[in-house]
Amino acid sequence: MTDLDTTSAVPIAAPTEGWLPQLRELAAAYTARVEKEREEEEREQLRSQRAQESADRQCAAARAAEYVEYCFPETLARVLPAEDWVGYPQLHVDVHGKRADKCAVAYLGDGLFLRYISRSRHADGYFDGYVDVMELIQPCACGNYIEHLDITDDDALSLVLADGAHSAQCVNACTPTYDPANPRPW
Ligand SMILES: [Zn+2]
Repeated sequence: MTDLDTTSAVPIAAPTEGWLPQLRELAAAYTARVEKEREEEEREQLRSQRAQESADRQCAAARAAEYVEYCFPETLARVLPAEDWVGYPQLHVDVHGKRADKCAVAYLGDGLFLRYISRSRHADGYFDGYVDVMELIQPCACGNYIEHLDITDDDALSLVLADGAHSAQCVNACTPTYDPANPRPW
């Protein structure tokens, strides 16, 4: 009986501290659960983003090779293997704050690159399919590069190549814009 009296004399935690200890436990468990769910969501988003990027790379490289077959039968299609195209995914925001479409690049030699872009077209703010764009990137004497846009067929490519792969001096039409004081800003 003495034991019972001693037990009843010990203060019971719950009545004096209220629901707070339990509530804190529940809140901590809830926070941990939410945090875990958020991490899983982020991992899932990353997985899906990587899958999309991989699909973009493959798609861009395949489209570039097809475009070459179709539009450059007498020149590029005869020398450039499909597997030379290296695809790049669409970037939602590029370094200039613009969206960059998926593209593929192939090295031709002597500093010259082809860049194929699968450009998304929009009409009245809505997506309206893709347009094939081929560009030839040529080194400039100043260290920058010259972009030949609209290389659409064998004729266009042959004209640019006939003009000379390298310009002996800067034509002031290169990108980034030529600055004599700082020829290679990067
Ligand atoms: Zn230049």
